[in-house]
Amino acid sequence: MTLPTLPPDLPEVRGKLIPGAELAPYTWFRVGGPADALFLPADEEDLAAFLKALDPAVPVTPLGVGSNLIVRDGGIPGIVIRLMGKYWGEIEATDGLTLSARAGALDLAAARAAAANGITGLEFLSGIPGSLGGATRTNAGCYGRELKDVLVRLEGITRAGARQVYGDGHAPVAFSYRHTDLPSDFIVTRLVLRGTGTGEPDKIAAAITALQARRAETQPIKEKTSGSTFANPDPPGTPDQRSAWKLIDAAGCRGLKVGGAQVSPLHCNFLINTGEATAADLEALGELVRARVLETSGVELRWEVRRMGRVQRV
Ligand SMILES: Cc1cc2nc3c(=O)[nH]c(=O)nc-3n(C[C@H](O)[C@H](O)[C@H](O)COP(=O)(O)OP(=O)(O)OC[C@H]3O[C@@H](n4cnc5c(N)ncnc54)[C@H](O)[C@@H]3O)c2cc1C
Repeated sequence: MTLPTLPPDLPEVRGKLIPGAELAPYTWFRVGGPADALFLPADEEDLAAFLKALDPAVPVTPLGVGSNLIVRDGGIPGIVIRLMGKYWGEIEATDGLTLSARAGALDLAAARAAAANGITGLEFLSGIPGSLGGATRTNAGCYGRELKDVLVRLEGITRAGARQVYGDGHAPVAFSYRHTDLPSDFIVTRLVLRGTGTGEPDKIAAAITALQARRAETQPIKEKTSGSTFANPDPPGTPDQRSAWKLIDAAGCRGLKVGGAQVSPLHCNFLINTGEATAADLEALGELVRARVLETSGVELRWEVRRMGRVQRV
């Protein structure tokens, strides 16, 4: 097997720099090729120093826990950065309503930390199986709330290695449906989140457990999946034409297969890897669904899952 070409003269790091790291194990779909190099920084200083010294021509891609991604079979060119380990998962309550969390922390961990500290209003985060960094980039949300509704301050590091703060008296970030206007190579490192009130920890924890049970019944959360594949179409249209899963169902795509990829029989806006799928299978299945929905309803579905990287291995 030939490894992808590692960018020359990479800077020294204190964390881990892994040439040719396979990325499939780092994604929920478990598909995709390698990164030219995967960087797991030790802390903010390590990350900033590395990015400052890195040739500006080398592309940089942040990766969370890969719950909203198809990494293509050819892998990702340049450096993939993942905030992994105990340090990047730290969360602390800074007052009775506020959490300060590093961006590698899971959304569920933030919801649970809020509950443990008697903070309400962050329960919805327990429904999103990603990291806080990924939640920021995707403006993740469910049950009528989005990350932007609870975000007070955001810290991160630019591609040039400079620290940057947004919100809390600094420049704001523009959020829209599952999107922010942050540059795609900006690494979110820390968030300050504010709840809406206080309550009894046990009751908040019970609300989280109930939300999770509801999800387990309606979504294939134990499968290799990546959440909603397509965004709900914008109006105009009838209510049924504004629901991606209803359009997919009406187009007869529930359970449809391409190679090892399948439209989930449980929730037909979810694609699943039944075991041996490639990224190409998943993408081809998604395109087939789009074509059938267009043919049957005239609606053009828009991918919500992010697809990144090279189609074929180098
Ligand atoms: C079963 C299931 C249910 C889901 N339900 C929901 C839901 O209800 N609502 C919802 O919104 N989403 C849902 N999702 C999708 C997904 O969990 C969210 O989009 C999540 O926020 C992605 O976070 P991640 O850490 O997995 O990011 P990844 O998938 O790894 O990356 C997503 C994007 O974020 C960027 N990114 C990741 N980390 C950082 C960082 N530190 N700094 C800057 N950019 C970064 C990546 O470059 C990429 O563009 C679901 C997914 C699954 C599998």
